[in-house]
Amino acid sequence: MSNMEHDRWSRVKGRLRTSVGEDVYSSWFARMDLEAIQQESVHLSVPTRFLKSWIQTHYSDKVLTCWQAEVPEVNRIEVTVRSPMRAASPAVKDAAPAEHRRDEQRPAPELRTTAATTPAASNHDALGGSPLDPRLTFSSFVVGRSNTLAHAAAKQVAEGRRGDPVMFNPLYIHSGVGLGKTHLLQAVTWAGNAGTERKVLYLTAEKFMYGFVAALKTQTSLAFKEALRGIDVLVIDDLQFLQGKTTQAEFCHTLNALIDAGRQVVVAADRPPSDLESLDERVRSRLAGGLVVEMATLGEDLRLGILKSRVVAARAHHASFDVPQPVLEYLARSITHNGRDLEGAINRLLAHSKLNAQPVTLEMAEHEVRDLIRPCEPKRIKIEDIQRVVARQYNVSRSDLLSSRRTANVVRPRQVAMYLAKTLTLRSLPEIGRRFGGRDHTTVLHAVRKIEGLVSKDTTLSDEVESLKRQLQE
Ligand code: ADP
Ligand code: MG
Repeated sequence: MSNMEHDRWSRVKGRLRTSVGEDVYSSWFARMDLEAIQQESVHLSVPTRFLKSWIQTHYSDKVLTCWQAEVPEVNRIEVTVRSPMRAASPAVKDAAPAEHRRDEQRPAPELRTTAATTPAASNHDALGGSPLDPRLTFSSFVVGRSNTLAHAAAKQVAEGRRGDPVMFNPLYIHSGVGLGKTHLLQAVTWAGNAGTERKVLYLTAEKFMYGFVAALKTQTSLAFKEALRGIDVLVIDDLQFLQGKTTQAEFCHTLNALIDAGRQVVVAADRPPSDLESLDERVRSRLAGGLVVEMATLGEDLRLGILKSRVVAARAHHASFDVPQPVLEYLARSITHNGRDLEGAINRLLAHSKLNAQPVTLEMAEHEVRDLIRPCEPKRIKIEDIQRVVARQYNVSRSDLLSSRRTANVVRPRQVAMYLAKTLTLRSLPEIGRRFGGRDHTTVLHAVRKIEGLVSKDTTLSDEVESLKRQLQE
């Protein structure tokens, strides 16, 4: 690929990332490569057949638009599946962030499916589970204030025996990105499968959809369902990516069948069940019916613990590697965002100290990780928190806010709460309406405009709103 092509490709990826958002981008496009540009057509490749068909059905227009913004002549996008040889090549350097390493390992089993043509083989593979990272176990999971409950619940699930009564079902863990959901879910899977007695199956939502779609195509969905029902613990990661009516219906059946049979289901997603907007109400309430645990952002102690455990892990292969305590403390204090960045920081220090044969110093750390330090961390604010804080401030109850009462002492606080929900969260107007006692999105819009208009004139109200914002952002 020429430099120019390379630059263009980077810009197109940048556009795609902006247009679909980080999460969607990393799920579907992170492993897409440019193969060639030939006049009007662009040839891209992905490692699995599933990714190919998913991108073609859901994102082909987007990809084309992003290309056309860079190269107007392009009018055709061709996506192919890369050959296994290339995908398996060890292109990743020692110091690459583990996330990439994990991704790189991921294609292998799915590629085997691509080669498999008999229905039996693909059905078998559909149930093979997603690949696990051997490092993501309970012993490398650091417990702190923000994840104690999630950890305890996961541990309990992992230690259950066949036939034991199931305590909470499903166990639903949610948090922002990089706060340890996948780590915990894979730990449950490793630990649960350590004995031979139980079968724990770990599937990403992507794999669940793929398995089901593949099984449907080969007309073995019955067998697929039967086999799914034969497992003791079903673990599904990144549920927010579950899409499509058929898939949802099937997910719902599977969930009901497993739960009714006393089998454990564990789910992770980036938001609470009530916020999974694309899921149908029945699925949401079934998901909310077990134990829902949130993992909050990592506290400084926990960040320090994670950094230390990463250093210990790195030392297993690089005995001379060491990170002095002040450097660890500096990193724990300044990299506040998520576990991935912490891991990335240690990887960089490792790479740097290896390549330059130098010990790790504070100065070097400051230089190496400067882009991982984000100046201010917006807190993830939830609609429930807004309702709680507003209700307290105006001395009404939360149910008043959700009710249909129209008295002035409830109407204004309700409007303020809706306004804050719109300005402080990423929720859509219809979603906010739903969360405020099933109101219409136009009601929410009206409230937002009303309060927007008032805060510019009414200083008392504008002080109140500011104070509410402060309380929520603390
Ligand atoms: P999520 O699935 O929530 O996006 P991951 O489980 O992939 O997050 O975690 C991101 C990185 O941070 C992983 O390398 C993981 O091992 C690490 N990490 C997160 N929380 C912890 C923890 N409590 N202990 C040890 N490592 C953690
Ligand atoms: Mg994850």
